[in-house]
Amino acid sequence: LSLRLQKQQLHHAILLVGEQGCGESELSKALAKRILCSASDILPCATCKACLLFEAQSHPDFHAVTTEKTQIGVDAVRVAIEQVTKTAQLSANKVILINHIENMSESASNALLKTLEEPTKHTFLVLTTNAPQYILATIKSRCEKIRVPMPSFDQSKVFIAQHSKAIVTEDILAAYKHSPLLYLAQADDKGLDFNSFKRDFTGLIQGRESAEGLANKWKDMAADAVHWTAQLSLQQFAVEVKSTTDQSRTVVGTQWMKVYDQATYATKKLRQAGLNKPLILSALFALIQSLK
Ligand SMILES: [Zn+2]
Repeated sequence: LSLRLQKQQLHHAILLVGEQGCGESELSKALAKRILCSASDILPCATCKACLLFEAQSHPDFHAVTTEKTQIGVDAVRVAIEQVTKTAQLSANKVILINHIENMSESASNALLKTLEEPTKHTFLVLTTNAPQYILATIKSRCEKIRVPMPSFDQSKVFIAQHSKAIVTEDILAAYKHSPLLYLAQADDKGLDFNSFKRDFTGLIQGRESAEGLANKWKDMAADAVHWTAQLSLQQFAVEVKSTTDQSRTVVGTQWMKVYDQATYATKKLRQAGLNKPLILSALFALIQSLK
């Protein structure tokens, strides 16, 4: 991307697509910084005025659209678009950055679409998404899509070792969608990590934990809890199938597939705004409890 920018061949709208935790927002910021940097190295120089202002979050030609809400509204997008119609104040280029564009409202998407169709000179749009299926086809077709892959386990191990003393296995990293970033962000957060969920999950199967109690405990990490439920139910399924010699007992294995299906369904439901997360979780956990 840097090389193409140097040759003035960079598309004016870049859409970085990747799974949650692949580092797409980190990359989007680095790219924005590079576009504004006045040096012409591969990476942003980190010492020019533009880079220093960018780091201080006060670069006048950088407009990040952010929101406290679950949806990105049209007003926030309009403000950014209005800003870039003016001449660049400091750098030669101007950048609008929007992360998670799948969260844009319909009117916000339409406002963005107009800018994509009639781009202002020297303006770059750097966009990211974890869910390209929720984005208007007209927006996608006007962007250059760049897939951001998840790092390999070996790459992740090196990265995690630079930031933490923890020893990760492939199994543990899988609980964090194979993402070293998600692992580092969540693994020691309030002790609510994959290992403690695994203990609660076992407690639920053995009747030591209640569905409501756990739903309440994990409500702030509902998406992770659901993802881990799916992962652990697949493991349970494999264990049941392996350990059973009695053909009639294969039914137990299929029940874990039901849990997996419900977890997949819960993932979709959790994406909708304003839904009762403890309720979705307790329905899922109650199903696990009923397997006894
Ligand atoms: Zn610089």
